[in-house]
Amino acid sequence: MSKFLIVAEHLGGKLNSSTARCVSCAQAIAGAEIHVAVLSDAPEAVAAEAARIAGVAKVITVANAANAHPVAQVLAPQVAKLAAGYSHVFGPSTTFGKDLMPCVAALLGVAQVSDIMAVEGPHVFKRPIYAGNAIITVEAPSSMAVVGTVRTASWPAAGNGGAAAVEAASVDAALPSHTRFVSLQQGKSDRPDLQGASKVVSGGRALGSADAFKIIYSLADKMGAAVGASRAAVDAGYVPNELQVGQTGKIIAPELYVAIGISGAIQHLTGIKDAGTIVAINKDAEAPIFEIADFGLVGDLFQIVPELEQSL
Ligand code: FAD
Repeated sequence: MSKFLIVAEHLGGKLNSSTARCVSCAQAIAGAEIHVAVLSDAPEAVAAEAARIAGVAKVITVANAANAHPVAQVLAPQVAKLAAGYSHVFGPSTTFGKDLMPCVAALLGVAQVSDIMAVEGPHVFKRPIYAGNAIITVEAPSSMAVVGTVRTASWPAAGNGGAAAVEAASVDAALPSHTRFVSLQQGKSDRPDLQGASKVVSGGRALGSADAFKIIYSLADKMGAAVGASRAAVDAGYVPNELQVGQTGKIIAPELYVAIGISGAIQHLTGIKDAGTIVAINKDAEAPIFEIADFGLVGDLFQIVPELEQSL
């Protein structure tokens, strides 16, 4: 039987929805027993949230002052110790998981399976390559634990309704002293989180300035949507780079994606492959974004966006 250990992603005492998405991925293997590990200085609140995820059989907490911040080099030796007895050790393919899981894989002496988008069997997975232009099927050896990251945009978050047991574990692992947490700098916003939002409004190079980009924020606020951007808009300094959507930005799967003044370069489309309905506003009727858009508006965004906002 497949026995999964999923490493919970959390920040500020709150569980990230990426954990429930990893649970969905694990559930794709019939009969999988799923445990979630919460490593923190004070894991109780996060563990209680994880225990409510439907499909989770057990939550294991590791309380340690060293786990106050998610430093991969500190967490990895502990996860590697916890991994004993598990057939699979999974984390999300977010910045957190992409940092942590390769360290875990290295400590366990296995190759990591990255960006799992579909499960074909306990050891066979599908993942995107070449910026999402091709899908490859990979097979991990069945003789050792499978360490993997889950492409969160490909999986829905498992629902609530679970009541898993919470068990405290003490882990005897030597922690490194050469890597330490210094500080976290993050943008503060009342808008929905770009990676978890059900609606996203993104702007591109066509906006022309940070000041003009305000019409994107305004429309997004009216719609209760998160704000995203193309790399061109980020590189031009219109918005901070945490808003970038795409191959080298965030991979998102909102129910509604509105691309405004964005041409639809392949590196941008990679980030919205799993979006539900795509709406594009562009003055060029030949723009590639219209090839994947469900609804397209050809025209000047500076005219259309205020009209759209008004009619909403
Ligand atoms: P443009 O391509 O310049 O398009 C602007 C669009 O706005 C045009 O279609 C134009 O018709 C339209 N327009 C202009 N004026 C108006 C108006 N008034 N009203 C309506 N429409 C108007 N890009 C990403 O977005 N995300 C990534 O993660 C990413 N990663 C990359 C990684 C690599 C290795 C490389 C090489 C590139 C990457 N890029 C990425 C860049 C990508 O190739 C494109 O250059 C970028 O997406 C273009 O951004 P844009 O669509 O905003 O700009």
